[in-house]
Amino acid sequence: MTSAIYLKPNKDKPLRQRHPWLFSGAIVRVEGAPAAGEIVDVRAKDGRWLARAEYNPRSQIRARAFCWDETTLIDEDFWYERLAAAIARRDALAPGAEARRLVFAESDGLPGLIVDQYGQHLVAQFLTAGAEARKTMTVRHLRALLDPASIIERDDPMRRKEGLPPAAGALHGQPPAEPLIITENGHRFLVDLRSGQKTGFYLDQTANRATLGPHCADKEVLNAFSYTGAFAVYALAAGATHVINLDASHDALALADANLRLNGFSPDRWQNIEADVFKQLRIWRDAGRQFDLIILDPPKFATSRGNLQRATRGYKDINWLAMRLLRPGGLLATFSCSGLVNADLFQKILFGAALDAGRDARIIAHFHQSPDHPILLTFPEAAYLKGLLLHIA
Ligand code: SAH
Repeated sequence: MTSAIYLKPNKDKPLRQRHPWLFSGAIVRVEGAPAAGEIVDVRAKDGRWLARAEYNPRSQIRARAFCWDETTLIDEDFWYERLAAAIARRDALAPGAEARRLVFAESDGLPGLIVDQYGQHLVAQFLTAGAEARKTMTVRHLRALLDPASIIERDDPMRRKEGLPPAAGALHGQPPAEPLIITENGHRFLVDLRSGQKTGFYLDQTANRATLGPHCADKEVLNAFSYTGAFAVYALAAGATHVINLDASHDALALADANLRLNGFSPDRWQNIEADVFKQLRIWRDAGRQFDLIILDPPKFATSRGNLQRATRGYKDINWLAMRLLRPGGLLATFSCSGLVNADLFQKILFGAALDAGRDARIIAHFHQSPDHPILLTFPEAAYLKGLLLHIA
C-alpha cells in the first residue's frame, strides 16, 4: 500500500494551488514508513486525496508533489511521458539547438532532475531523493527517447541538503575524454562535460548573450566573472574593439583562451586576467581605468537565507565599483542568479549602488533565464536568474 502524508488543515493552500513543495511544518501525520525518494499520497487531514509526491525524511522540503490526478499512477509510462513532454517543449522552442536544457526539474514536473544536452551527449543531475531513486529508469527512458552517445552524471551541493552522497560519472556510453565543441547561435565553444562548472556551460545565459552581443559593437568591454568567455565571443563577433575576461578560475580562463582562438579573433582584441573581481575592480578604480561596457555575472552569492545580507552587500559592492569604472554613457549588464534575491530586491540593490557611485542609472533592458529554463507559474521559485542593462550617465 502506498504510504501517505496528512496535512494540517490550514497548511494545504499552496498545495491546492499546485505549489509542489511541502515543508515538514505542514505535515500533521505520516502513514506507513516511506523511505527517501518513495512516492506517497498527500491527503488533507480529513483523508481527502490531494496529490502524489516524492518523500524525503532527510530534507527540509519533506515532499515534492508532481501529480494532481488521483487516477494517474506513477509508473514507467508516466515517467517516460513526462520526459518526452519536456523534450518536446524544447524541440518546439529552438529546433535543432545543439546545446540546451532538456529538463528543468519542478518546472517540467520532474522534481530534482536536470538534463542538459550537448550535441550527442547528455549531462544529468539528480538533486532530490526522488530523482535519485528513479535514476536508472530515467537513464533508460533518455536512451529510448534520444539515443545519446553518453549520459554523464554531475554532482551538485544541493544533493547534500537532501542527504544524498556525492555522485558523478558515466551512466551510459563513453563520455568525451576531451572538452567537446558545441555551437550556440553560430559561435563555437569548448565545453568540459566532466569537470566544467555546473553541467559544463551556462545555458541559462544563452538568450542574454544573444541580446547583449550587439550592444558591444565598437566598445571596450569588461567581461567580469567570465567563466569560459562566452559573453566575450558574442561581444567580439558583434564588433567590440577589445574585451577583457576576468575570472578567478585558471581552468575556466584556459578554456576562454581556447574559445577565443577557436572563433578566430585576433589576440590583440582580447585579454584574460586571472584575479578576484572584488580586488581587481578596486585596482582599476584607483588607477582610473575605464570601460564602455561592463558585464557582471557573478556566481550565486545568496546560498541561504542566513547569508542573504552578506550577499546583498556583495552585489552592491561590485555594481557600485563597476558604475565607477564606466565612461559617461557606458552600459552595465548586471546579473544575479541567486533565487533568494528577487528582481525587486536586485533593482533596490542597484539603486543603492548608483546612489553611492553618484551616477544616474537607467534601465534599458531586462534579462531573464533562457526559455529552456521555463518558470512554471505555480512554482515561482524556478525564477532565479535576473539581470538589467543599465545606462550609466
Ligand atoms: N558569464 C559566464 C558564467 C559565469 S559563472 C558565462 O556566460 O559562461 C561565474 C564565474 O565567476 C565562474 O567562472 C567563477 O569561477 C567566477 N568567480 C566566482 N567568484 C569569483 C571572484 N571573486 N572573482 C573572480 N571570479 C569569480
